[in-house]
Amino acid sequence: MEKINLNKLIKEAIFKKKGISLSEYMKMCMTHPIYGYYTKQYPIGFKGDFITSPEISQMFGELIGLWVVQAWVDHDKPPEFSLVELGPGNGTLMEDILRATKSISEFHKALKITLIEISPSLQKLQKQVLKGYPISWKKNLSNLPNIPTIIIANEFFDALPIKQFVFKKNEWMEIIVSLKDYNNTESDELCFGLKKVTTLPQELNSFKQKENQIYEISSEIKKNILFISKHLKKNLGACLIIDYGKNNNIGNSLQSVKNHKYSDPLKYQGESDLSCLVNFEAIKNYSKEYNLVVTNLINQGDFLKSLGIKERFIALSKNMEKEKIDTHVASLKRLIDYNQMGKLFKVLGIRNKKSSPLIGLEI
Ligand code: SAH
Repeated sequence: MEKINLNKLIKEAIFKKKGISLSEYMKMCMTHPIYGYYTKQYPIGFKGDFITSPEISQMFGELIGLWVVQAWVDHDKPPEFSLVELGPGNGTLMEDILRATKSISEFHKALKITLIEISPSLQKLQKQVLKGYPISWKKNLSNLPNIPTIIIANEFFDALPIKQFVFKKNEWMEIIVSLKDYNNTESDELCFGLKKVTTLPQELNSFKQKENQIYEISSEIKKNILFISKHLKKNLGACLIIDYGKNNNIGNSLQSVKNHKYSDPLKYQGESDLSCLVNFEAIKNYSKEYNLVVTNLINQGDFLKSLGIKERFIALSKNMEKEKIDTHVASLKRLIDYNQMGKLFKVLGIRNKKSSPLIGLEI
């Protein structure tokens, strides 16, 4: 029933505009207020469609917790300190951060936590998981308190919509989502199509005009990074971005995952997870104007090792029941091994020049 409704809405939009941009399609599929993927189900975890680092092991959130505390100490323990998480999913990362740092009461007293979550159902889940902590929720990045701020984003930017462009026969075309059979109103089948670009996005000017080359641009990522950069320039602090990504805007990276398997991105609208590789180079460029320090891109495996994941692994193993050890070992490997998430996932830090260098990224 729900699938038909979303498909109907998408078809209507396609008819009205003679095809919709990929970003509009992704937005409808993922965050439509009634039928969007994130709106109507709990997608993350072993029982969901995909699994993220905080869901694999508590070690991930605990180490990020240490990272945040270190940043607070490096800012001379300000009595008011803002911690913002973008796209908190099941709330597991924040829960692990707060549990692991519980004994540092001065830090907890200083914390003002803001969670940025568009999905009402995930907000509800986060409110249950994080009950008792003073947290405020927002649907998008806006009006953060003007105090030293740490912003964390794990697998948030890959969930934001993108547009795709291709250079063909001497002109730029946009890849759009269209209907396979325009004349058959009964048909639900979608397809990709091409549309002439009328207003060229600024970024396209700097791209090489190579026949059939696909380029990706995300104005949502840009909007968020500009907000973060402006905020960090005004206030002390840093942003920690962890995601799977690439260092350019080249190629088609759109993927659809349903039930832990790849699927057709134009099928299962609102029922499969659509995501893209994050273009870290674009993120660096967007924040360049703000006179901030942008760190090198570090592999997740190296980052976690430098924060002490192996030591934490051993400490947790000591009191662990025998049956749980195999999963514990597998989780460690999954997070740090280069042929698992250790290399595909990257970490980038952005900070105010006056803030101290970031552990695991600069020192
Ligand atoms: N960080 C979590 C979840 C990643 S999934 C983890 O590591 O497990 C992406 C998260 O971003 C979800 O919580 C989703 O609802 C949220 N999200 C997606 N698009 C968003 C948007 N445009 N604005 C705010 N939150 C968004």
